[in-house]
Amino acid sequence: MAEQAASRPSRQLSNLRRQHKGLINLMPLQTGGLLTTAAREALVEFGDGYSVCDFCQGSLCNITNPPIREFVQELLPSFLGCEAATITHGAREAKFMIMHSLGRPGGSIIVDANRHYTTVVAAERVGLKVIEVPHSGYPEFTVDVKQYAPLIEEHAPDLILLTYPDGNYGNLADAGGLGQIAREYGIPYILNGAYAVGRMPVSMEEVGADFIVGSGHKSMAAAGPAGVLGMKKKWEEVVLRRSGTYGNKEVELLGCSIRGVPLMTLMASFPSVAERVRDWNEQVSRAQWFSAALEDLGFKQLGERPHRHDLLQFETPALYEISRRIRERGYFLYKELKERGIWGPQPGLARSIKLSTFAADRQQLQLVIESFKAILDKYG
Ligand SMILES: *Cc1c(COP(=O)(O)O)cnc(C)c1O
Repeated sequence: MAEQAASRPSRQLSNLRRQHKGLINLMPLQTGGLLTTAAREALVEFGDGYSVCDFCQGSLCNITNPPIREFVQELLPSFLGCEAATITHGAREAKFMIMHSLGRPGGSIIVDANRHYTTVVAAERVGLKVIEVPHSGYPEFTVDVKQYAPLIEEHAPDLILLTYPDGNYGNLADAGGLGQIAREYGIPYILNGAYAVGRMPVSMEEVGADFIVGSGHKSMAAAGPAGVLGMKKKWEEVVLRRSGTYGNKEVELLGCSIRGVPLMTLMASFPSVAERVRDWNEQVSRAQWFSAALEDLGFKQLGERPHRHDLLQFETPALYEISRRIRERGYFLYKELKERGIWGPQPGLARSIKLSTFAADRQQLQLVIESFKAILDKYG
């Protein structure tokens, strides 16, 4: 009996399949992380463990075959508009290593109220107190960066951070304005661009930040887990300091960070990612067009208007009303959309939905709009 029970799950584990392959993907977490063809090839080519280490001489970011050194030391800094860069396991690990390097015991960090949970958890792991700059509340939830100044005076924080854009509403606060404030007060400034780097043009230098953070699997067409971290030259010796025992190993990266597939897919996609950010105007106009069409159906877009990002949140009272009177509850929406070849809103939710238009073209989005209309008509 026990033997049988043990053999069943192992058979399942060796035949893993995904449910939403091939559908129109609107899930904000996933639309910027879909692999390019080149990344798909790299995924298989470098699938074996430690495959990137063939020619390693002790420092991951110095490997020239494959060309990791060129990627990390030249291409990435120029793409991020920074002086030094490295690769991490994700945006959260990048934030953690900055906070861990610059935070003092009993210190604090000032963040926007739309911050991602990983900002708070990273600060918690370091032991930094989190102070929040409030947002404007329903329905736009905007952050006025001028409100950082009085809080900086009151708390003298170790760091400030802005989420650009935030992952709930896709709002883009005045990052450059906060750069001026950071300079005035001499406080190191982290720009969390998990939803920006790899989707839209963004430059750390132009913003006036000290650090810029991106996510490979969120926005750079990488399998991940992968993150990028850019910084001013002066922080290199602080955040990328080397071990006293092993002179070519960065302490905050525990020697070397992402190895193998996460890095190789990030690199393989990089040329198309660097290219695609130039289409950002079209991305924004497509998101605005889609948002207007859903509002015509009675949904209400939250966050900034006009909207300037592909991540959109809608209040959907009509869908919620339906979910309250049918057996499947909120799951009806997931099922109805899946039947129509669409994957996006978190299964089970109907009161409000988060969608990203980043990976779908206008024709596909038109089908999404018509599908929502058909679903409303069917239950209306
Ligand atoms: C997704 C997200 C993160 C986390 O990114 P990881 O690379 O998975 O750590 C951090 N911040 C924001 C705003 C996000 O949307």
